[in-house]
Amino acid sequence: MPEEMLPSIDVQWQKVLEKTDGIIHEDAVRKWILPTVPVSLSQNELILAVEENFQKQYIESRLGALFGDVVQQALGSGYTFRVVIDPALVAQKKAQHKKNEPPAEIPAAEEMTAKESPGETKAAEEYAGYPAQGSLPLTSASDTHAAAPDDGTTLNPKYTFDAFVMGRSNQFSYSMTKAVADAPGLPSHNPLFIYGGVGLGKTHLMHAAGHKILANHPEKRVLYIASTDFTNEFIRSIREKSMDAFREKYYSIDVLLIDDIQFFAKQEQTQTEFFQTFNKLRDSGKQIILTSDRQPQDVKDLEDRLISRFAGGAVVDIQPPEFETRVAILQKKAQSEEVDIPEDVITYIASRVDSNIRELEGALTRLIKYASTMRMPIDETTCIAALGNYLRGEKGRRITMEMIERIVCTHFKVTSEDIRSTKRSNDIAYPRQIAMYLCHELTEVSWPTIGGFFSRDHSTVIHAHKKIQNLSASDPATKALIQSLSIQIKGI
Ligand code: ADP
Ligand code: MG
Repeated sequence: MPEEMLPSIDVQWQKVLEKTDGIIHEDAVRKWILPTVPVSLSQNELILAVEENFQKQYIESRLGALFGDVVQQALGSGYTFRVVIDPALVAQKKAQHKKNEPPAEIPAAEEMTAKESPGETKAAEEYAGYPAQGSLPLTSASDTHAAAPDDGTTLNPKYTFDAFVMGRSNQFSYSMTKAVADAPGLPSHNPLFIYGGVGLGKTHLMHAAGHKILANHPEKRVLYIASTDFTNEFIRSIREKSMDAFREKYYSIDVLLIDDIQFFAKQEQTQTEFFQTFNKLRDSGKQIILTSDRQPQDVKDLEDRLISRFAGGAVVDIQPPEFETRVAILQKKAQSEEVDIPEDVITYIASRVDSNIRELEGALTRLIKYASTMRMPIDETTCIAALGNYLRGEKGRRITMEMIERIVCTHFKVTSEDIRSTKRSNDIAYPRQIAMYLCHELTEVSWPTIGGFFSRDHSTVIHAHKKIQNLSASDPATKALIQSLSIQIKGI
């Protein structure tokens, strides 16, 4: 569909902003979403421009899943979003806006913190010089209930021990983290070092400990921070000559939670500073919890003295969940979403998504959404339609034209008969051309055979291929669509 046939992008963008309500914390919306500029909206993708790479990274990594949901709720379940860096465009749009409207001031992050947390005003002022990522630094029991779902430094209210399903793979880290939360600061488990692969629950456990400690000791100052944010804050403090304030802040913390410390690699100055912070806190009996994707000795480019400090407390690992745990996690998730999922569907997903809990949850969420928008019952057929090659078990297999056709049809909500028919309306011809293009790109099948499959001759296939190739080069939305379909087809 050409862009001009779609409702105005501004109207759609307004819808997206409205949908953030209740899903993304308003501070995060103001700080990260509002400064973006919607640049294009195709049939299935919203493209936003930002000025700086860190904005793109933050939106994609921290708000990605939530904002993805918002976009789908506002624009439809087929929609995705993408962030591009285009400072000139952002500046131009901002200038246009200024002309058209009375200026809508977007308060700086620092001001927001000061204004909106009356109880924390003093603290906020103290931290006024810190970077946006670190600007909501301390959590206490009184404000956890109001915490953003995930704005970087607050504890995620969903990540509690109650919500954590224990199984053989995570039993040890679970009980150790709980023990630490019940008696923080004991030298034998200080620091607590939790390591394991992506999406296995390290951050969840770390937050759970934070919640528990705050529940037991509301006066304690608990700080959660990603290691990259710690590094940025440190660098900024050097630049702004506010090292005293930086140290004062970190030395006054009772429980320090630093996530993904593998990213301290090569940050020599940060490591030196962190070494001091670490010793200071540990020596005064303050609990430190660290996570990493590997055990201390294996973290690359980390100073030896840090490695030995990290390994000097309790080191626990989380393994990928075994089948029973995956089933239990899916059941718990279905329960919390208040959706009835038949046993066989749960088993179906649990047996096919087997390495990563984030993906496991993602598969279930996708299924629930698909079933509700398509008004289909939640059963195995819907599951296959919704998840397609998202599910494992088909990896490493040869890609066939049937597989491509299935995914393209599901995406465009057309049937296989339509695609192979003589119909030439754009809503059928476009998916057909995309399918032909992908058949040539992803299989070894010849032009005539592809033509035969779609009841066309080879010159039509070559023409379609050329057309989509040109479109991908000139239109970012088509390019993104091709990429996303290819990923699904390859089952990555
Ligand atoms: P990591 O930090 O190891 O990459 P996360 O802690 O972010 O992983 O976990 C990814 C997702 O999986 C989160 O939504 C988390 O709540 C969920 N999760 C992980 N482990 C469990 C578990 N044992 N029980 C319930 N949910 C879990
Ligand atoms: Mg994590």
